[in-house]
Amino acid sequence: MAAAEDYRTQISQVSYRNQAFIAGKFAPAASGKTFDCISPVDGKVLTKVAECDQEDVERAVKAARAVFEKGTWSQMAPLQRKRVMLKWVALIEKHAQELAILETLDVGKPIAQSLPVDVGSSIKCLQWYAETADKIYDELAPARPDSISMITREPIGVVGAVVPWNFPMLMASWKLGPALATGNSVILKPAEQSPLTALRMAELAAEAGLPEGVLNVLPGFGETAGQALGRHMDVDMIAFTGSTEVGKFFLRYAGESNMKHVALETGGKSPNIVFGDVADINHAAASAAAGVFYNSGQVCTAATRIIVQEKIKDQFVELVAKHADKWRPKDPLDPKTAMGSMVDEGQMDRVLSYIDIGRKEGAKVAFGGERARRNTGGFYVEPTIFDDVKNSMRIAQEEIFGPVVATITFKDDEEAVKIANDTIYGLQASLWTRDITRAHKVARSLRAGTVNINATDGGDITAPFGGYKQSGIGRDKSLHALEKYQQIKHTYIQL
Ligand code: NAP
Ligand code: MG
Repeated sequence: MAAAEDYRTQISQVSYRNQAFIAGKFAPAASGKTFDCISPVDGKVLTKVAECDQEDVERAVKAARAVFEKGTWSQMAPLQRKRVMLKWVALIEKHAQELAILETLDVGKPIAQSLPVDVGSSIKCLQWYAETADKIYDELAPARPDSISMITREPIGVVGAVVPWNFPMLMASWKLGPALATGNSVILKPAEQSPLTALRMAELAAEAGLPEGVLNVLPGFGETAGQALGRHMDVDMIAFTGSTEVGKFFLRYAGESNMKHVALETGGKSPNIVFGDVADINHAAASAAAGVFYNSGQVCTAATRIIVQEKIKDQFVELVAKHADKWRPKDPLDPKTAMGSMVDEGQMDRVLSYIDIGRKEGAKVAFGGERARRNTGGFYVEPTIFDDVKNSMRIAQEEIFGPVVATITFKDDEEAVKIANDTIYGLQASLWTRDITRAHKVARSLRAGTVNINATDGGDITAPFGGYKQSGIGRDKSLHALEKYQQIKHTYIQL
């Protein structure tokens, strides 16, 4: 991999797409307004981006609906649709380095991760869904013998995809892959903090031959552009990833407009249960650190609650602290860096204020706890470990979305499960034990969409991902994700 200096040279050659992408073309916002796109690496403005609002949503929905009705994409032969998507994937691969640099500059994540993880997993995701386009069969119902009862899938229509800033390209890909493979038109609203890769991806899709209007990208703010999409009478579905609070707004928007389908991937406060019989305590501690400090803790599944058996607590906290040292924030453009910045100043302040809350609640800072790299002008926070936490404390209940972990102790299996489930969230859970019966019993009792046994991140594009409780509605990834982008039609034929 290139060194930090090489990346700096490449940055001077990167250009920013900063206008809305509607009906296959870049255009300014109807209002002419723009907003600053700031890099949290050093706090400097990268470019001014079109600030889309209701009028732009109108234009994009019209374009998306027109092409959907025309059938250019929605009725295209699946094999052909697959070919266009694979061509798009090839172009993304060709521009992988550029996209990784854009992602790193825009949100401050280490280049060593944006290239293989953000860009790499997006490629894998889009390729995987492209391949499903001509492999999913419809069904015949085992109904009366004097009839044919067909069950067919149709694209749902115009999909609004509203995504967050923590994995801008990847969260967009989780929506775009299944939505486009099934023939829908999409209007993507990236988060205001991270519009750059979405705009470039749309441009590459057009280059690959995706018909005009099938993929539109509207940078802008949630309360304006996001809400206009959520309330639009001609949008058939919203595919959302973001906070639980905003997810609930989308349910309200749908209820107050056209009852559009709403799929939600929202917040988490994932428990990481470590039993006294863990096979390799040092490995579990390294994984606990990675599970919460990766991406500066700005991960919906982050293992933010270490729930550890009393008798090994001191040893475990000491080991996690040893590993935390490797996650101290450094220059995101240096390929050796493991943890970069927070996404922006607001998120940094939010995390620091939670660290303050934790101290006031009586928890003990066992590692970190401060802002870092202030002289860069960027927004960095140290990996932070809280000890002596009670699960009722705010730092154990509320999603901090930063590199902050709370350590809580338990006595027996029953108490571990009770603490783990004592949250409004249910996105992911992890547990560490060498006892296979305990592992299965506990896994069954955990109310979470994903349970990792002896790991903290077992995600793969082939497996479904989503939340119980207030962590969401529906699933992303795997074949299960396709269902939500399709209507099911029953056609009955009397013989
Ligand atoms: P967020 O504030 O909920 O924003 C998500 C998206 O919704 C952004 O595009 C945002 O636009 C938009 N939005 C904000 N307010 C809105 C409103 N009133 N009406 C319509 N749209 C609105 O979340 P975030 O801070 O970007 O991301 C962090 C959150 O995402 C965390 O809670 C995390 O757990 C969650 N997340 C979940 C998953 C998952 O799969 N379960 C994955 C990743 C992240 P603007 O930002 O431009 O205003
Ligand atoms: Mg930014």
